[in-house]
Amino acid sequence: AATTASNLGFEVRQASRLQVRTKAEARKIEQSGEKGAGLILRPPVVTVMGHVDHGKTKTLDAIRSTNHVAEEAGAITQHIGAYQVTYADQKITFLDTPGHEAFSSMRAHGANITDIVVLVVAADDGVMPQTLEAASHAKAAGVPVVVAINKMDKATANPDHVKQQLAEIGLVVEDWGGDVVAVPISAKAKTGITELLENILVVAEMLELKADPNQLATGVVVEAEMDKSKGPVATVLIQNGTLKVGDIIVVGSVSGHVRAMQNDIGKRLKKAEPSTPVEILGLSGVPQVGDRLVAVASEQQAQALIEKHHAEQATARAISLTNAYEQISAGKIKELNIVLKTDVQGSIEPIRGSLEKVSTDKVKVHIIHAGTGNINESDVNLAIASNGLVIGFNVKPEGGAAKLASEKGVDMRNYDIIYSIIDDVTKATQGLLEPVLVEVVEGRAELRAIFSAGKGRKVAGVYVTEGKVTRNSTVRVLRAGKKLLEGGKISSLKRFKDDVREVAAGYECGLGIVDYDDFATGDIIEFYGIVKQ
Ligand code: GDP
Repeated sequence: AATTASNLGFEVRQASRLQVRTKAEARKIEQSGEKGAGLILRPPVVTVMGHVDHGKTKTLDAIRSTNHVAEEAGAITQHIGAYQVTYADQKITFLDTPGHEAFSSMRAHGANITDIVVLVVAADDGVMPQTLEAASHAKAAGVPVVVAINKMDKATANPDHVKQQLAEIGLVVEDWGGDVVAVPISAKAKTGITELLENILVVAEMLELKADPNQLATGVVVEAEMDKSKGPVATVLIQNGTLKVGDIIVVGSVSGHVRAMQNDIGKRLKKAEPSTPVEILGLSGVPQVGDRLVAVASEQQAQALIEKHHAEQATARAISLTNAYEQISAGKIKELNIVLKTDVQGSIEPIRGSLEKVSTDKVKVHIIHAGTGNINESDVNLAIASNGLVIGFNVKPEGGAAKLASEKGVDMRNYDIIYSIIDDVTKATQGLLEPVLVEVVEGRAELRAIFSAGKGRKVAGVYVTEGKVTRNSTVRVLRAGKKLLEGGKISSLKRFKDDVREVAAGYECGLGIVDYDDFATGDIIEFYGIVKQ
């Protein structure tokens, strides 16, 4: 049977559903030709999303407790950030951090590890704002959704109403003639869980997820921390190849040898195959969640990869309304992806409609998520992951949204006139928009000591608490929340006796400011730059 997700009809799916249990032996499919050589099916990687309190955590717990691998002697459940269950002789990997925040920050980091999203919707509460957010995130990522209609044990459960609401947000379930699988479950009573797993496997089978275990491993960090006795510990989801104890690995900007590995039930492993989550020891530092793991053949290769990683971080450039035309003309983008947040529902459709009409033959304006409420970190992460921008109408950024957008260079604009949005986006697609100057905070430091620099001049001994200071940074001095200096220039930046170009968080340095020396311990010094956006 043809098995690409797009051309599958209902009947083919029914057929493949029946094959699920007998699939185990057929897993190893021999591929003919060079390219497919060595490819075998790999287990699906699943992320559970949904509105707060709809039962994501409880669903993950219920799934985990259906697993019988734990019967193995000495098995103790470990929380390493992901776990695997076996159903009908097939494995499924679940990421243990539910929610679209983790999903989107991972994608914003460039790591697409989820194959299937389980969208949990409480049968008594229905589709809520975060249900819609999760659906938008899954859609933007091109990841299929299996809906779990949870809390079916409740007397107030109304699955039909949930299905109707799902259709309204573009998820049309099978009994409504659509192709989204919806499974009624109760995470509390642990009912429907095996049906959910079975349906995940059906979708996985259509996706034909493959990997080659005979290669050096690649993977992605899903959790990382510094352990007092073990040193840096990272949980990595292996995506391709096989990771073995002793392998030389590069993870983001750190490297090492795999000293030991264990799985989610505390079992020591010598090797880990595709889609397996493993906790690894032996790294030189703690990597970041979302960092890529690459096993390499030599130390030299490791070094070269680390350098490449640094270079890539320096050149990554986000899309903005001002550089959109340049990127469109260079053929780098074909879609201008926009996350739209408005104060009221009624504003969404008029803005969406007008913006989509701005599309030209070179670029399509695409609203990847539209919702009401202030701009949150999840919106910014979605924009980063989709190389898009955020447009707010009568809303403000909240939480860490502004900081994240500024750090990642995401263009986030707020408007209070619809016409201005349309006008700016139209101009952007034609290369007619004037750049705006925005401030990007590079780092912060705390003033801890004051030194004499001769001729009655003073320098500040500061401790960099966040980000970094560079010789070219512009300086602002704050005391008890009051601004004492704005737009200052650095006259000297020293570590011990040496002039340096930059100082990172966690280090002390001596700082001189041009024509300014009104220092007091406890002053906060901010370092920033002005960039065109
Ligand atoms: P999350 O915020 O989506 O991770 O939700 P939780 O898993 O923490 O569940 C939120 C609340 O709903 C908790 O009090 C759970 O005990 C309850 N809950 C979760 N699943 C069910 C269910 O199937 N039935 C009932 N009655 N309550 C549930």
